[in-house]
Amino acid sequence: MRIVDVQNEIDHELITHDEIMKRIQEAADQVSEDYKHTLPLLVCVLKGAANTMTAFAQAMSIQVELDYMSLSSYGAGTSSSGTITVRQDLSRDVRGRDVIIVEDIIDSGRTLDWLVNELKSRGAKSVEIFALLEKPARRVIDVDVKYKGFEIPDEFVVGFGLDYDERYRNLDSIAVLKPEVYEGAVQ
Ligand code: 5GP
Repeated sequence: MRIVDVQNEIDHELITHDEIMKRIQEAADQVSEDYKHTLPLLVCVLKGAANTMTAFAQAMSIQVELDYMSLSSYGAGTSSSGTITVRQDLSRDVRGRDVIIVEDIIDSGRTLDWLVNELKSRGAKSVEIFALLEKPARRVIDVDVKYKGFEIPDEFVVGFGLDYDERYRNLDSIAVLKPEVYEGAVQ
């Protein structure tokens, strides 16, 4: 945890940088083995998964292609609205491709459920998911996540790409925000 918490908003560090990198390497080893006969397309859900995407792709021992998509379901609040809109679309055609979605966190599951269906309807040959974090207690929709990082408690986390109101993305570890920081925010 290298940035200074000027606003004193962070409660505690939950997952260290080394633990994150180790887990990402293990997942990348698994993916490299599972996809050794194909050229998978990694689809990053911006902006939160950008750090995970970079670390994950660099940890692979196979070639991969990278693409990015921006979806919106959250504003400054802390819960999913259920209505997903595409802010910025992929640059590649997913038809016939083996796609791996790279996501920062799966909370209710609404975002990933929507995206898996969307990519399948665009003709992807297969769609799997790597999610760095998962909050099992908050799941509303059952989504099959093949490659997982960490299960975390029902707390609002920031860091390693995850923000609170656009801040803390550059924290190199995952930390829990003090509840009083976001309790007044729009849900
Ligand atoms: P879902 O659609 O699964 O409810 O929400 C997934 C999205 O919600 C994530 O991509 C992320 O943007 C946001 N999200 C869910 N929980 C957290 C959290 O604890 N911290 C942050 N920063 N974002 C979260």
